[in-house]
Amino acid sequence: QDFKDYALSEEIISALQSLGYHQPTEVQREVIPLALTKKDLVVKSQTGSGKTASFGIPICDLVDWQENKPQALILTPTRELAVQVQEDITNIGRFKRIKATALFGKVPYAKQTAELKQKSHVVVGTPGRVLDHIERGTFSLERLEYLVIDEADEMLNMGFIQQVEAIIQKLPSERTTMLFSATLPSDVENLSHKYMRDPSHIEI
Ligand code: AMP
Repeated sequence: QDFKDYALSEEIISALQSLGYHQPTEVQREVIPLALTKKDLVVKSQTGSGKTASFGIPICDLVDWQENKPQALILTPTRELAVQVQEDITNIGRFKRIKATALFGKVPYAKQTAELKQKSHVVVGTPGRVLDHIERGTFSLERLEYLVIDEADEMLNMGFIQQVEAIIQKLPSERTTMLFSATLPSDVENLSHKYMRDPSHIEI
């Protein structure tokens, strides 16, 4: 199978070629076609499976370049993962000139706020700082259409459940939600039951 089998724009296909991604990984073969139809997904998969690109590719394809306000939010448990995901999105969206902004704590707000004021298609961040920006009014959720909860089990292990729920409750209800997790304990399942619409389950 080939990335050209999916209804992806030329800009995304070219970026994947330049990254040396010649064939989709297993999780990408399962996730990309469904994500492109805006289906809610619960995906059980490990780091190293290519899961970042499995949501990064459809999100970069689906966002409207013209829109200035953020259209996708990716929540991660750590700053390191937020930076990694931001870099991956930037690479995948390179020829479409997709802007991805990373938000994480323990650094000043000013630079993040300035980035959010410019065109920002995708926001990647840790729950505490993302919620701070929402509450300060520096991160607009008006045009948000895609939510990814990455490493959901880790996120809950680290005690972020309240912040994650507070963020989700502020998002437009008309949206696509994808949850990725290495394990599916009951608190992760509960999150999916509470906030997702008839999700398809994918297990790699
Ligand atoms: P992840 O599971 O998202 O952490 O990705 C693991 C590694 O696989 C990363 O270094 C990616 O750059 C790489 N990768 C993701 N998708 C592909 C692909 N289709 N072909 C080759 N490498 C890939």
